[in-house]
Order: sequence, then C-alpha cells, then structure tokens
Amino acid sequence: MPNRTLLIAGNWKMNNDVAEAVKLADELAQALPEVPAGVEVLVCPPTIDITTVHDRIQAAPIALGAQNVYWEAKGAFTGESSCDMLKSAGCTYCIIGHSERRDYFHETDEDQNKKAKALVAAGLVPVFCCGESLEVREAGTYVEHVVNQVKAGLAGLEITCPKQVVVAYEPIWAIGTGKTATAEDAQEVCGAIRETLKEMFGEELADGIRVLYGGSAKPGNIAELVAKPDVDGALVGGASLKAADFASMVVKAGE
Ligand code: PEP
Repeated sequence: MPNRTLLIAGNWKMNNDVAEAVKLADELAQALPEVPAGVEVLVCPPTIDITTVHDRIQAAPIALGAQNVYWEAKGAFTGESSCDMLKSAGCTYCIIGHSERRDYFHETDEDQNKKAKALVAAGLVPVFCCGESLEVREAGTYVEHVVNQVKAGLAGLEITCPKQVVVAYEPIWAIGTGKTATAEDAQEVCGAIRETLKEMFGEELADGIRVLYGGSAKPGNIAELVAKPDVDGALVGGASLKAADFASMVVKAGE
C-alpha cells in the first residue's frame, strides 16, 4: 500500500477574533512542538487572522491554509483574496468547495474548478471538499454524487506530484451534527474517490493523493477513521477549536 503522509487539518470557520486566534495558535504551538512521523498538521483560520496566526506558528510544525480564495489575480473584486495574497501571508493550502460555501454562497462546481486551477498554478494546495446531503444519502446515490463533484471540480487540473491536491470527503449530514459517518461509510466513499482520481490523473499520482474524511471527526474516532486504507486524515471543524482536542487527534492519528 502506498505510504501517504496523513493530514490532520483544522477548519476554524468563522470563529476567533485576532486575540482569540493568537491564544489558540499559541496553545497549538505549545501542544504540538513536534508531530508524529507520518502525520502533517494544517490549520485554516479566517482570512482576517491568517497573518497573525502565521507569526505565532511559524516555529511549530504546523502548516497554514486559508478557507477561501478567488481565482482572479487582482482588481475590483471586493471582499476577495487572490492566491498570491494568501501565499504572501504564509499560506500553503486553501480549502475550497466546502458545503457551507456551496450552500450559503451558491458556489458551483465550476467555481471550484477555477479556484483549484488558480491555486495549483500559484503553487498552493487546494483542499477540495465534496460530500452529499442527507437527502442524497437516503436516496442511495451518494457515491455517484460525490464522484461527479470530484470530476467537475478537479477537471483538467495539471498536477505532476500527488501532494499538489488534497480531497476531503465531508458528508453534509455529519458536519457539526455530532453524527459521524462510520469508518466503513468513510472508506466506501473515499475509496470511490480514489478510483475516480485514478481515472483522472493515473494510478501513480492518485495513489499518493491524500483523501481526508470530515464531519464530526474527534479524538474518539480519528484512529478508526485513519485505519481505513483510503482515509488519509481528517478535515476537522469543531474539534479544531480546542487545542487539546486537536493535538490529541494528531497524536492518535500517528499511533
Ligand atoms: C467541517 O465543516 O469541515 C467539519 C468537518 O466540521 P465538524 O468537524 O465540526 O463536523
């Protein structure tokens, strides 16, 4: 089996003002002076906190990402940030396609595709989220739904190394609800995503691309999730806001 470095990624969403971000970043840097071999750690604060968090974690083995990006390079796009701006602030990753952006801000698969291409061209790593609603899950068409999102969102992406993109499977019914998909549920869809990535990018690249699970992941379930062959870590919302919980997930993932 390919040896993929696990990724434990925190999505702070719209939480933490600057003072709170400093506190959490300092606690994380203290809790994670080093990370277990085979595990990579990423935090994605709100855009307003990125520069501050960068300063606080730069000596720690913690990567920095954004939660959103716009694909244009610069200009009259009020409220947006470009890839180069994120890079200049210390980001190496950026979450795209989160269900909250798709649902509340009406972002489409085509938007995600433009964002993914712009990020890769700028040397940033998209963490491309996909996942089905409860309605789609209950209709039984969830694998097809997620596969279609991956095909549309990552179409034509030019990568030469598997670390240039991360996919996060996040069933919407499990996000922030406390209702985790079972490790078997996660494996079923993450495995199907891997097969899709093989069709799109070839076996060798797809074997090295990290496919994460997200949706009420926490210290109590991370070990069983990452024990599955196609689950290469987690995108963590709620539990990433508590340094002790997030650090414990990192440690448990590495055991
Ligand atoms: C998320 O929204 O990316 C997420 C996984 O949230 P939570 O862990 O809180 O379910």
